[in-house]
Amino acid sequence: KAKELGGNNHRFFDDTMNELVIKKDQIERMMRLALERNEFNVHYQPQIESATGKIRGFEALVRWNSPELGFVSPEDFVPIAEKTGLITQIDELVMYQACLKNVELQHQFDYPFLMAVNISALQLGRADFVDKVQLILNETKMKPEYLEIEITESILVESFESSISILRKLESLGIKIAQDDFGTGYSSLNYLNVLPIHTLKIDRSFIQNMTSATAEKTIIESIINLVHKLGHDVVAEGVETKEQYILLKEWNCDFVQGYYFSRPVSEDKLVELLMEEKNYKNQ
Ligand code: C2E
Ligand code: MG
Ligand code: MG
Ligand code: MG
Repeated sequence: KAKELGGNNHRFFDDTMNELVIKKDQIERMMRLALERNEFNVHYQPQIESATGKIRGFEALVRWNSPELGFVSPEDFVPIAEKTGLITQIDELVMYQACLKNVELQHQFDYPFLMAVNISALQLGRADFVDKVQLILNETKMKPEYLEIEITESILVESFESSISILRKLESLGIKIAQDDFGTGYSSLNYLNVLPIHTLKIDRSFIQNMTSATAEKTIIESIINLVHKLGHDVVAEGVETKEQYILLKEWNCDFVQGYYFSRPVSEDKLVELLMEEKNYKNQ
């Protein structure tokens, strides 16, 4: 009986392993195809200025709707795209689309919206990244001061020196740099002084716990004060309730982003939203 069980376990384990390998392999193959077939597109989530209710701008978030796999979450395919290097192409196409869209929206609504894009750690290790960004700005006629590049803390751990030098080059072009997901992973307050950042985004895990736990409240309020003293702006991510918004406003958090205001939406929905919700910018 034990032998039988062992046999079964062994087979079960093998199958699972195979499935995992096949899944990653399949996603990689499908991603290459998806790039050729233009299956990636961009959704946009508004960022709101807390004090006024005006729209600051948008975060561009990649979306992949595969005819074979259905909707695949960035949480699932971005890590694989990073391992295979495909993230370079994906990030570039998202930045291009997002800049193009922002120029169009600024024109249509006569408003200086900002566009934030996520950039993988890998890009900051590439010598030609700054040139690529410059090229995209030229081609889309996007002014650098309206582009914000979001980076995560893992970047800083992986290749600190070269990342800093690339960030400084981007900064000298007039581009804004945001530190994403602050409070997760290898957070260090030291980085806040070393990095040429303009904006710090507090991770949604903090925001989502804050109404229930007093400790989170204290931490968030202190982070906001500290970041302001360093001269940076603060964006709170993952704001889902009115209570969270009210508290963040009270604590002078500059900008808020989350489902309470809007989910990430397609470009068509975004235009509808901006037309309906003119109060966002007029309040
Ligand atoms: P992120 O940059 O921290 O983006 C915020 C994520 O939180 C998005 O998930 C967004 O849909 C989600 N979110 C926004 N508001 C709320 C809220 O109120 N509640 C909850 N529960 N979630 C909220 P998404 O779009 O699935 O993206 C996940 C991650 O994938 C992003 O985290 C980012 O790290 C990465 N990613 C997305 N697009 C790109 C891209 O174009 N390039 C790269 N390199 N990474 C990307
Ligand atoms: Mg982000
Ligand atoms: Mg984030
Ligand atoms: Mg993230």
